[in-house]
Amino acid sequence: MSDLKEKRIKKLKRKRIWPSIVGLFVIAFVLIIVVVAILGMYIADMVDRKLHEGYKISCNVAEYVVQNLSDLSADELQKHIEFNDSINAIVVFDSNDEIVWSNSDTIPNIDNELIYTDESGMYQNNFCLILESDDKLIFEIDKENIRLSENLLNIVRYKEFLFDEDLLSRESHVPVVETKVWMVVNYDEYKVLVLNNISVVKSELFIIVATFIMMMLLTAVLVVYYILSIIGVAKSQKRITKILYTDMVTGGYNWLHFTKKGDKLLKKSKGIYKYAIVALRMEKYRSFCTCFGVKEGEELLEKIYSALKHTIKKKENLAHHDEADFGLMLMYTSEDDLTNRINSLYEYLGSVAPKIKIKFRFGVCMADDKDKEVDSLYNNATTALDLMPEDTDEKIASYDIEMKKQQLWERKVEDDMDKALVTKQFKLYLQPKYSTKDEKLAGAEALVRWIHPTEGFISPNKFIPIFEKNGFILQLDDYMLEEVALQQSKWQEEGKELFPISVNVSRAHFTRDDLAEHICGIVDKYNIPHNVIELELTESAFFDDKYVLIDTVKQLRDYGFIVSMDDFGAGYSSLNSLKELSIDVLKIDADFFRGTDSVERGMLIVSEVINLAKKLDMKIVAEGIENKEQVEFLTAQECDLIQGYYYAKPLPVEEFEEKYG
Ligand code: C2E
Ligand code: CA
Ligand code: CA
Repeated sequence: MSDLKEKRIKKLKRKRIWPSIVGLFVIAFVLIIVVVAILGMYIADMVDRKLHEGYKISCNVAEYVVQNLSDLSADELQKHIEFNDSINAIVVFDSNDEIVWSNSDTIPNIDNELIYTDESGMYQNNFCLILESDDKLIFEIDKENIRLSENLLNIVRYKEFLFDEDLLSRESHVPVVETKVWMVVNYDEYKVLVLNNISVVKSELFIIVATFIMMMLLTAVLVVYYILSIIGVAKSQKRITKILYTDMVTGGYNWLHFTKKGDKLLKKSKGIYKYAIVALRMEKYRSFCTCFGVKEGEELLEKIYSALKHTIKKKENLAHHDEADFGLMLMYTSEDDLTNRINSLYEYLGSVAPKIKIKFRFGVCMADDKDKEVDSLYNNATTALDLMPEDTDEKIASYDIEMKKQQLWERKVEDDMDKALVTKQFKLYLQPKYSTKDEKLAGAEALVRWIHPTEGFISPNKFIPIFEKNGFILQLDDYMLEEVALQQSKWQEEGKELFPISVNVSRAHFTRDDLAEHICGIVDKYNIPHNVIELELTESAFFDDKYVLIDTVKQLRDYGFIVSMDDFGAGYSSLNSLKELSIDVLKIDADFFRGTDSVERGMLIVSEVINLAKKLDMKIVAEGIENKEQVEFLTAQECDLIQGYYYAKPLPVEEFEEKYG
């Protein structure tokens, strides 16, 4: 498949999934960070506040204890400090760090316990603050990093903690969670350590957890939204791919899929199996549609597709191409193997529409080069198919070297043609037409020759069919008409007697309505009478658009040009065209005078055609006349003009002038 096609497909399918996925991660990450940070700050602030409150109380207690140190027994002191539940223990050290007073057995362990020392709110050591309840760690605050403990996350997850029966059954003012912190107060020469309960009541914890849950919910909603949008994008991509690769007529794969899959298969092919690209054509599809209708035609194509689908293997390839053409990529081991395969395909296709006789033909191109594109191999297969003679009973045609040469030639012709026209490589040759009455020059036919700078002399049979296919014939015919008009005007200026020169007008011209004016426009640039220009049309144009042809012929004759029908009797001629077209000259095709088997019958027809033409008031030209017998016969039949090698081959203008003055 071409790079351009690949790019177009990518562009069509480019509904990016990855930005959504990245977006999802970024949003989730940012939200979680924000939630944790806000929550951490909130908790840190709350704990700081509580520590500060505890410290203030501890200061009062320390002052009271130190002032009454000598007077108070521990029990008495205990009574005084009962006013505050949060105080657990008091230990007083003197300046030698000896305990001088204590109200309980609890002795502070400075290294392992939490210590809060002054109003700056700094912890003396680098411990983190841990709030815990019933041995369950609720959260911890590290001075450097604020983070939630595993258990706080568990609270969020399991909620039982928050609605813990035990906790709920306690009195409402009872704190849910608490921890003990030694508050260090320096008073006079004493250092007083007060063990303080730091507690978080249930309502405070509830606010923290509720905020946390809400923010997590918000995060979850956004994450779900993103996930849904990613699924949506993935689905729509799948749909686009399906549309992109579906053939609307058969409902199967289309040509794009064929070439994409085909190129891949070809690249991967190895072992004894090779691939052949097969162009399968149902003959006379148009006639089928004319008889049975387009809908029925398309239904038939669908059936053919399904039948083919059943016969191909997994590593083979199939698609509907165009009209009634299908592409197949078949694996084979030998040529016989491939022929058998195609024959059995043919048999099988016969069952698609048993009541109607359908003919199938196969063009085959072996894929012996892995780097070739399937599209161009298929093109070769169709070339083989196109070159099959109409009337053959053969059903398989293989693309061979001759065809390849022809293809290369066509490409060369197409590359060179424009330049050839500009640099006048196309030369006008004239072939004389002789009158049978006096055997003198009575007209000529303009025939083109290509004098190519490297290929030399090229006969029109080698390039006219190519130009007819690619449309360049329109430019070439105009060029030849102009050359003829120019030549006539030169002779007119030289005072020579003018005679009609015929130019060939390809059937491709009859697509334009203003053909007569167009021809007039070219000829009139040279101020010559119209009756020295004869226009040779082929009968085949009659079958394209007969009304345009009839109209154009009428206009051309009204303008005074001579109109002749070329190659009469060749191909599918129809006497009907003679009935409907009023023309001046009938050129009997050279084929009537060829061969040996049916010469007599040919002559009989020629004499009847001459009779008929005379009755229709037309002149007769016989072309391709090569011998005296033919000339005598035609003279006896009162044929008007004779053109052929017997008198002269087409000549370059200079030679023509030399010969005829
Ligand atoms: P055509 O129009 O039927 O031209 C007659 C062909 O028969 C010419 O071939 C001519 O050289 C050849 N011919 C004439 N007398 C004899 C003979 O006695 N024996 C044999 N064997 N052949 C004879 P040519 O010039 O090769 O042209 C072939 C065809 O190419 C022409 O067939 C015409 O269809 C086409 N062609 C030539 N020039 C032009 C052109 O300028 N425009 C168009 N549209 N077609 C042209
Ligand atoms: Ca001709
Ligand atoms: Ca002819």
